[in-house]
Amino acid sequence: MFESLSDRLSGVFDKLKKRGALSESDVSAAMREVRVALLEADVALPVVKDFIKQVSGKAVGHNVLKSVTPGQQVIKIVHDELIAMLGGSADQEPPASSETLSLIGVPPVAVLMVGLQGSGKTTSTAKIAKRLTEKDRKRVLMASLDTRRPAAQEQLQVLGEQIGVKTLPIIKGQMATDIAKRAMDAARLQGFDVVMLDTAGRMHVDAALMAEVIAVRDRVQPVETLLVADALTGQDAVTVAKAFDDQVGITGVVLSRMDGDGRGGAALSMRAVTGKPIRLIGTGEKPDAIEPFHATRIAGRILGMGDVVSLVEKAAETIEAEDAERMAAKMRKGQFDLDDLRSQLRQMKKMGGMKGLMSMLPGIGKLAKGASQLDDKLLGRQEAIICAMTPKERRDVRVLNASRKRRIAAGAGVSIQDVNKLLKMHQQMSGMMKKMSKMGKKGGMRGMPS
Ligand code: GDP
Repeated sequence: MFESLSDRLSGVFDKLKKRGALSESDVSAAMREVRVALLEADVALPVVKDFIKQVSGKAVGHNVLKSVTPGQQVIKIVHDELIAMLGGSADQEPPASSETLSLIGVPPVAVLMVGLQGSGKTTSTAKIAKRLTEKDRKRVLMASLDTRRPAAQEQLQVLGEQIGVKTLPIIKGQMATDIAKRAMDAARLQGFDVVMLDTAGRMHVDAALMAEVIAVRDRVQPVETLLVADALTGQDAVTVAKAFDDQVGITGVVLSRMDGDGRGGAALSMRAVTGKPIRLIGTGEKPDAIEPFHATRIAGRILGMGDVVSLVEKAAETIEAEDAERMAAKMRKGQFDLDDLRSQLRQMKKMGGMKGLMSMLPGIGKLAKGASQLDDKLLGRQEAIICAMTPKERRDVRVLNASRKRRIAAGAGVSIQDVNKLLKMHQQMSGMMKKMSKMGKKGGMRGMPS
C-alpha cells in the first residue's frame, strides 16, 4: 500500500520536466496521484479534497529551486501541507513528555481515558502512567472504572504491578462514578499528582455507556479526556472520535497500533475531522511502546519517500543563487580556482557532507554509511589545506613550488601528499570544466554572453 504511494508519486514526478515554475498541468497530474494515494492510505474523502485544493493553490506557479527537481519541489509542498494539516509545523521537534499532556491544576488532576472496547485503552492508560512516572517524576494512581467486562479491573492491576504504578484497590460492586470519586479521594489523601481513569469500553458508540462517561467526567472534572482509537480501524476510528467529541468532549487523541498501520491516513483524517490534537501514538504491545505524536514523522510516513524533503530544504538554505551564477560564468571561461573549490567544499559540508547528502536519497542511505564517513573528514582536511594558502596561491596554483607546499602542509596539519592530492583533484575538475565549456561553445551555447 505504502510502497505504491511512493512509487506513484515518483512516477508522476519523474515525468515532470525541469523548468522555471510549476505549471498548472504539472501540478494537476501530480495531484491526481496524490489524491488516489491518500484515499488508499485511508484518508477521508472530504479531507482529501480539502488537502488537494490547498496544495494545488500553493504549488502552481511555485518556482523550482535550481538544485532540485520539480518532483522534489512538489513533494516538499505536499509534505509541508500534510504537516500543517496534522497540526504541526515543519521544524517542530517532538514535544517533551510533560508537554504532551496538559496537567495543570491543583493535584491530584484527573486524566480520563475513553474509547471503544479493544482500542487499546487499558494498555495506553498504563503506558501513559509509566511515562508520567518515569519521565516526568509524577506520582500516578490508576483506577479502572470498567465494571462491565469481567476482570477488567484486575487487568489494570496486573499491568500496574508490572510497570510499578499504583492502582486503586478493587472493591467489587461499586459503580463507575463511585470508583472515580474514591480514586480522587485516595489520591488527595496520599499525595498523588495524577489519577488516570480507565473507563469501560464499548463495542460501538452506545447511549447508556456514553452517559456513564459523562457522569464520571462531571464528577472528576478531568484536565484531559483522551480518546484512545485504533489506527488500524481507519475511517471507523474517525467516526468514533467525532461521536465522543460531540457527546463527551475530548481534549486529545491517543492513536494506538500505529506500529501496524503503515499508512498513517487515520491520523490525518482524525485531526482534520475532530480538530483535536493527536497527543501520543502507540507503537507496540510493550508498556513503553508509546511516543509523542510528531507531525513531521507521520507526514513522512504518509508520503513514504526517502527524506527528499530535507534535501529540498537544505538545498534552499544553502545554495545561494549568486554563487551559482558566478560559478557558471567561471566554468564557461574555463577558470576554476581554489577559492571556487573551497566554496564548493563548504557548500557540501553545510549540506551534511557526502554522508548527509547520500543518506537523504531513497535507497542509498544504508549503502553510503561506511564509505562516506571518510569523505566527511576528507572535506574538512581539503578545506584546511586551501585555507592555509595565500590568496595569490589560491588564484594561481602554478606558483606552488615545493617550499610553499611544505609550508601549506604544516599550516593545515597534513602531509605534502595530501596537498598534492588536493591539487590533482582541482586539476581534474578544472580540466573537466574546460571540456564542458568547449562542448557548450560547439553546441547551442554559441552567442551566449560569457
Ligand atoms: P481496551 O479494551 O481498549 O482496554 O484494549 P486493551 O488495552 O486491552 O488492548 C487490546 C489489545 O491491543 C491488547 O492485546 C494490547 O496489547 C494491544 N495493543 C494496545 N495498544 C497497542 C499498540 O499500540 N500496538 C500494538 N501492536 N498492540 C497494542
